[in-house]
This record gives sequence, C-alpha cells and structure tokens, in this order.
Amino acid sequence: MDQRTIVCLSCPKGCRVTVKANGDDIKDISGHECPQGIEYAKNEYLNPTRILPTTVRVKNGQIALVPVKTAAPIPKGKIGEAMQKLAEVEVEAPIKLGQVIVENIVETGVDVVATRSIKAKN
Ligand code: SF4
Repeated sequence: MDQRTIVCLSCPKGCRVTVKANGDDIKDISGHECPQGIEYAKNEYLNPTRILPTTVRVKNGQIALVPVKTAAPIPKGKIGEAMQKLAEVEVEAPIKLGQVIVENIVETGVDVVATRSIKAKN
C-alpha cells in the first residue's frame, strides 16, 4: 500500500493529510480537520494541478518579458510541456493585463494570460 502525506492548502491551517492507497484505489484518508481536506487530498493524490506562473518574450515592448500565468490550475504532469511551448512564444506589444497570450495551452482547456500590461517602445 502507498502512503503519502499532503498539506491541505484549502485554508491557512495547513493540515497534514495522510492518504493510503493501492494505486488509484484510495483506502484511507486521515489527519484532516474538516471534510474539505478529504476532497483536497483526493484531488492532489489522483490528479495534482498547479497554476503555472512564468514569462514570455515581448516584441517591440518597453520591457523584454511579460509575466504570465495559466488562468486556472493545469495538471502537474503537463507543466514541463507547457513551459516548453511558452518558451517558443513571442508576443507583440502593447499587451494588456489579462490579455490571452496562448489559448488552450497544451490541450488543457486553460488559457495563459498576461499578469501585467506592457507598452510598446514607440
Ligand atoms: S482539512 Fe480543513 S481545516 Fe485542515 S487545512 Fe484543509 S480546509 Fe483547513
């Protein structure tokens, strides 16, 4: 049986929740102080996701890189592929805060958006 301890980030308490499982078959969850911890630990164990914050290159901008992030969490296993894809992207200034930089990054259904505005050079 696998056993993993996951810190629940659903509230500032940060309970250490222990998941015991045979592969994807969860047998026991303990250490949570409320039911939210069960859902959090289940999701984190079976399908961990993360918001991806990074930067992409800017053409003709007052600065050379724009900070971006995924608009929602994406599967942890797709983070590397998404980083590679974003390394190839160059976006033309001006850029507006919240502008979609890449739609549906690596087929996750999630867009990558700018987290600041950048003016054009001229
Ligand atoms: S299990 Fe409940 S109390 Fe504990 S960190 Fe998660 S949400 Fe907060």
